[in-house]
Amino acid sequence: MNQMNMSRLTPLFAAIALVLFTSGLPSDVAMAKAKTETAKQSVGATGFKGFLDRLWPVARARGVTRDTFSAALSSLTPDQDVIDLTKKQSEFVKPIWEYLASATSPNRLERGAKMAGVNQSTLDAIEQRYGVERSVILGVWGMETNFGGYTGGKDILRSLATLASVGYRGTYFRDELIGALLILQQRHVARVDFKGSWAGAMGQTQFMPSSFQKFAVDFDGDGKKDIWTNVPDALASTANYLKQNGWQNGLPWGFEVTIPHGFDYRLHRLVFEEWASRGVRRADGQSMPRRGEANLFFPAGADGPAFLVTDNYDVIKRYNNSDAYALGVALLGDRIFGAASIRAAWPVDDPILGLQQRIELQQALTTLGYDVGEPNGRIGTLTREAIRDFQGKRGLRPDGYAGKRVLEALQVK
Ligand code: CA
Repeated sequence: MNQMNMSRLTPLFAAIALVLFTSGLPSDVAMAKAKTETAKQSVGATGFKGFLDRLWPVARARGVTRDTFSAALSSLTPDQDVIDLTKKQSEFVKPIWEYLASATSPNRLERGAKMAGVNQSTLDAIEQRYGVERSVILGVWGMETNFGGYTGGKDILRSLATLASVGYRGTYFRDELIGALLILQQRHVARVDFKGSWAGAMGQTQFMPSSFQKFAVDFDGDGKKDIWTNVPDALASTANYLKQNGWQNGLPWGFEVTIPHGFDYRLHRLVFEEWASRGVRRADGQSMPRRGEANLFFPAGADGPAFLVTDNYDVIKRYNNSDAYALGVALLGDRIFGAASIRAAWPVDDPILGLQQRIELQQALTTLGYDVGEPNGRIGTLTREAIRDFQGKRGLRPDGYAGKRVLEALQVK
């Protein structure tokens, strides 16, 4: 996921690899990282028992009681399906326009509007308490579980224990398992209802146990942080997650913009006023915010839609470090409350490159004498600068976007 990190640091023309996941799968940051690996082992009964024996002293040291531990784990068996699912999570690249079309499908917008209405007073109270706008809360809720439509039917403890027992991602899943045991011990959820995705994300907005421990709240005051079935608890927990990660009330996540002719494509981060003075305009015709700064972001290169995105956009990426996901949340939230769809056309003939093609692109640039480091498929600053230089020399717009078109131009002898 390094491309994602780089795209956040230098969002301008970030030629990112959009690693996209099936909706409903867990999606906080750590899980996003987990999906780029595959568990290589299968797990046998003996290995599993040994794992539980080794787990106990660690769990005890973190406050898990023997009663909790035994009741939760003693009759557990490993789940081979979970191991198999890790192998299916290999990186694939889906065009961002397909992903966003599905994120903001008519059905989802309709359901979102309905849920916004049903939960209006709850959302009023949450906005009041946390200063996080309902549009982004609805956006997360819709992207994660289609507003509670599917929260995952896998036994959380069994899934986490299976992943931890094979050492998938080091000690990450072991620690999540211990977190899950503590959640159970604190009686936030009944054992039989302790369910979620195959990789441990739980409830209406798919928290991992570690996120639950940091951010879940009991909003309705019944003593339980019930993110599975209690909508006020789940949505307030999500608001708290965003708030604790730096959400700024009143600052838009961003918006689509239009770019003037003769624009300097190397501009990166400016205050809104400065963008306006350089001819950048909001696509919806509204005026720029008076305060704040934003990065210019082209998810699919300069031939596609352009956005100005603020620090709040980066806060959404703390939930799942993917630009496609963050745009999905942001646009879904806006559109539920009546915003128009993206106006600019997507460059459907110029999709972002897959891993192998990105390596080919770097090899071609190296052949031309550019220093892009070791060709590894990661599009960083060196590669983007090389692409820009090459584009400039070929009379192409120098946006540094690692798309199909620039690869084809490079491959012309
Ligand atoms: Ca509660």
